[in-house]
Amino acid sequence: MKFSAEGYKFGDGSEQKNRQRRSIGKEERKKAGERIVMEVKLAECAGFCFGVKRAIDTVHEQIEKQAETGGQIFTYGPIVHNEEVVRELEQKGVQVIENISGADALQQEGDRNLTNEGTVIIRAHGVPRDVQEKMEHSGMTCVDATCPFVKRIHRIVEKAGKDGFEVVIAGNPGHPEVEGIRGWCTGPVTVLETEEEAENFRAKDGKKVCLVAQTTFNYNKFQSIVEIFQKKGYNGNVVNTICNATEERQRAARDLAAEADVMIVIGGKNSSNSRKLYEICSRECEHTYFIQTLDDLHLELPKAVRLVGITAGASTPNNLIEEVQNYVRINF
Ligand code: SF4
Repeated sequence: MKFSAEGYKFGDGSEQKNRQRRSIGKEERKKAGERIVMEVKLAECAGFCFGVKRAIDTVHEQIEKQAETGGQIFTYGPIVHNEEVVRELEQKGVQVIENISGADALQQEGDRNLTNEGTVIIRAHGVPRDVQEKMEHSGMTCVDATCPFVKRIHRIVEKAGKDGFEVVIAGNPGHPEVEGIRGWCTGPVTVLETEEEAENFRAKDGKKVCLVAQTTFNYNKFQSIVEIFQKKGYNGNVVNTICNATEERQRAARDLAAEADVMIVIGGKNSSNSRKLYEICSRECEHTYFIQTLDDLHLELPKAVRLVGITAGASTPNNLIEEVQNYVRINF
């Protein structure tokens, strides 16, 4: 199988060794009974990524326009996976719809004259091609806030299908981003999430395979799936479509969690990248908390806490991160 992975790297296990060294160091320091001065540290790359910031800025631009021109603003699905952000936008009049007829129904409830007027914004995760086409033909103004990195996957799978490849998406089949990617495939497509599913996968007769990943997919798991496909001897192509922002955030969170005595992950409960951060941090630090807002934080700090680490998912606003940081600094 020819793996023309763009920017794809095979790990040499050194990260794992470093991790072990770091955790041993932490234990030794504790046993040595060093004087403990508690520090609160924010992981690098915590919070809004480029795509989420861009999507939220797009909604704010539309709110400003609406103030001049009128018309209802909708987002197709929550603009990002963070209830706080969605609630704040709702207070500014932005309504979430799950389908185009949802927009019609909402408008008819209010003012019948507004039917088919207004603006619908496509969320950062993107939507399937048929949904986008329906929006464009609905009479409403359609604004595409799909993250450019997700849009790139749409283009890759669309072309791969036309070129006779069977597309395999490594990702969560129920996630809106994966549903969107699936909807841009022009040929056979399979979504798989685990190494076991990769082992059981059989390419259709004579089909070349194009393997891509959900942008938030775990990098090591993707690497294992690639290796399984290599062993199977598939003739195909791998494109590492995991977003750098996710990789960097995960790496920074892992590094901080390996040093920290307590780790706090802030993110929406429906946010897959926040949940993955929690999984990664929990492996490194046994006292890891996953919270959506400060109200969820019931910190019970173990004795001799020296470092509290904080990280946050891609859709977590800065003010929330600051609030949690300040709370921990002031109260512990
Ligand atoms: S995590 Fe990456 S792909 Fe996803 S919205 Fe952010 S920048 Fe885009």
